[in-house]
Amino acid sequence: MATIGFIGLGNMGGPMAINLVKAGHSVQAFDLSAEAVSRVVSEGGVAAASAKAAVTGADFVVSMLPAGKHVQGLFVTGDDPLFDHVKDDVLIIDSSTIDAATAQQVASAAQARGIGFIDAPVSGGVGGAKAGTLAFMVGATDEQFAKAKPILDSMGKNIFHAGAHGAGQVAKACNNMLLAILMTGTAEALNMGVKNGLDPAVLSEIMKQSSGNNWALQVYNPFPGVMEGVPSSNDYQGGFQVDLMFKDLGLAMEMSQQSASPIPMGSQARALFNLHKVNGNGGLDFSSVLKLYQDQ
Ligand code: NAD
Repeated sequence: MATIGFIGLGNMGGPMAINLVKAGHSVQAFDLSAEAVSRVVSEGGVAAASAKAAVTGADFVVSMLPAGKHVQGLFVTGDDPLFDHVKDDVLIIDSSTIDAATAQQVASAAQARGIGFIDAPVSGGVGGAKAGTLAFMVGATDEQFAKAKPILDSMGKNIFHAGAHGAGQVAKACNNMLLAILMTGTAEALNMGVKNGLDPAVLSEIMKQSSGNNWALQVYNPFPGVMEGVPSSNDYQGGFQVDLMFKDLGLAMEMSQQSASPIPMGSQARALFNLHKVNGNGGLDFSSVLKLYQDQ
């Protein structure tokens, strides 16, 4: 069993770290929030007083942070970069959703120092993080992928080697852009059906068994009361914040610009989430985009 430094114990990182503890690893856990650290410690993790303490002596480091600037700052450009404190043979697995260019830059900076750094963003939401059923999209060399796989297996069900460094983030940006389009489309259809007299649960079941079937209808219905245990039935608390989806759609926009890939549907979804965010809903789960369609 390995010693693993885990940095970023939020909605996703907390349950992921706990699954590593349950798999028998020694997890040195750090977050800026003491409360987040104590949740992992109560499940058997070891509290680290700083990010530096979390990575010291670790065989693997897993980071689950909000954005690229946090990852770059912490490992490379900050006052006391963690690259100065990791073991020579460490493998750093960054599971945050960040831009592919930053992931490649950090991987190159690591390579120059003989350190392993790979991108391994995830899909599956907080439910998947808790259940240990996340999908990982990995950008790494073959050797790094083989080394990371047993660790990722403790937190996920489907582990994909997308390609070289940065490829995991490219796959993630494509997936989340499609998710945003599917969620807004599902909200749009449900709202129209309900305004025309349909029961949202009945309409959801019809579309789920018909050609409109998609992930939002299957496991993340945006209409309150249709499905138990999802954010829409809990005042849109927890889950995947509108702010984070807006960030991800920004990453897709950047990628489309750099590669001249047309994304009219992704751009429209981003405009909708932007409107929803400026209406004060940035902290709600992204399925709350349904509210944008509803009569106030
Ligand atoms: P979150 O805001 O709940 O957690 C982020 C955590 O990072 C917070 O606890 C914060 O205190 C901590 N943090 C920030 N800067 C830090 C630093 N310098 N040192 C230590 N800790 C620091 O966010 P989340 O929902 O867990 O998402 C994390 C990442 O996972 C994001 O990149 C997000 O896009 C991605 N993601 C989220 C979901 C989801 O459903 N929530 C799904 C897939 C991917």
